[in-house]
Amino acid sequence: MSLQIDPIHEFDGRGWFKHQPRPVRPSTVVLHATAGATLAGAVETLRERGLGYHYLIEPDGRVWKGAPIARQIGHAGESLGPDGPNVNRYSIGLSWVNLNDGVQPITGAQLDAAQQLLVILRQGLPSLKWLTTHYAITVRQDGGYRKSDPRGIDVPKLALASGLAAWKPDWAKRFALS
Ligand SMILES: [Zn+2]
Repeated sequence: MSLQIDPIHEFDGRGWFKHQPRPVRPSTVVLHATAGATLAGAVETLRERGLGYHYLIEPDGRVWKGAPIARQIGHAGESLGPDGPNVNRYSIGLSWVNLNDGVQPITGAQLDAAQQLLVILRQGLPSLKWLTTHYAITVRQDGGYRKSDPRGIDVPKLALASGLAAWKPDWAKRFALS
């Protein structure tokens, strides 16, 4: 069974999220949570701020595409990842619609959809190697962090299942917060 992926303009009648050319092929997928209850709320906020994700996955597992992966969009902010700073430059942003409160779990349907999507991406994009989180690319050496999402994710398990390698900085104890 193939994964259905619908363009975000079918949700709100507008185009892709704000995007620009990128200089390299993406090597990394950054996992996020929207920190909100609904897709509508997330999309509205992203449009207002000129940000976006390449993919959004709702609690029932429905997948929305926010922009082509060949284009760079703003999802990571100031960050440091496997290929250096400004992770937006070389990454794909994938966000689950989830409160990110450490209570509401990412659903099984969301995890299944993400795993299928990651396999599809890896198969079509030989440059893709790393799986990481917004937390992991914004955690500092002193243990402080700028972003906490997505909470409660077993990143090595998802990486293994999708043929990618889990990434975190050497100084971080974990890939994601609980
Ligand atoms: Zn994030």
